[in-house]
Amino acid sequence: MIWFGRWRRARILEKHAITPDAFRAALEHLPILRGLTADELARLREAASLFIHDKTFSAAGGADVDDATQHLVALQACLLTLNLSEDSYRGWNEIILYPDEFLRHHEETDEAGVVHHSRDILAGESWHGGPLVLSIADVAASGRADGFNVVLHEFAHKLDMLNGDANGFPPLHRGMDAAAWARDFTAAYEDLCARVDAGEDTAIDPYATTDPAEFFAVLAEVFFETPHLLHTEYPAIYRQLQQFYRQHPMARLESHGHA
Ligand SMILES: [Zn+2]
Repeated sequence: MIWFGRWRRARILEKHAITPDAFRAALEHLPILRGLTADELARLREAASLFIHDKTFSAAGGADVDDATQHLVALQACLLTLNLSEDSYRGWNEIILYPDEFLRHHEETDEAGVVHHSRDILAGESWHGGPLVLSIADVAASGRADGFNVVLHEFAHKLDMLNGDANGFPPLHRGMDAAAWARDFTAAYEDLCARVDAGEDTAIDPYATTDPAEFFAVLAEVFFETPHLLHTEYPAIYRQLQQFYRQHPMARLESHGHA
């Protein structure tokens, strides 16, 4: 069936590839892609084009889901998986886009039978086996090499969920050491929690201390957006993510003066 796969792929790319002009515009908007080789950029453009064809983009709250927005989402989603399996985003289909941050209402009944209502204002969220939700305003603010990236954050949750609930422990590649991963992530997580508890104004977003799943997602943002910061603060985590994503963003951004 490999032949069919190639044929289908060629057909899709023939009709639906991101155009060179649109790709250039997206690259202008995404300094985190600087330093990728011509071959990597070609693979990224192809993967993002297939991603847009395979996934469903839906509008919510009156959002205007234009091509440029889809390109920004797809290119950054596919940056995470550039050197990973092509079906890393299997098992779910829909990306829902709101114009801006959105409200999520929760209702919980406690042991005494009292119902509690709460509201969160979100820039994005990932459902296990379900849709990924993003605010277009926050998509537009992502990829600027400043440390914030809601797209990488939510898609990192999707990679984490490939082996069950999001818990900061995605399926590791052959040759990676699960015990070393647990040891390094636990140490860094506990260190960041202690620093935040002590009132330190940490360069890494303190939201990472919510739980190990958020730690993994926030550190994906730091790894690709401001890799030098991660390498300085938690070099062992940088090396783990370098093995996991099979990329070395610090080296390529440094070569372009963007570390
Ligand atoms: Zn999260």
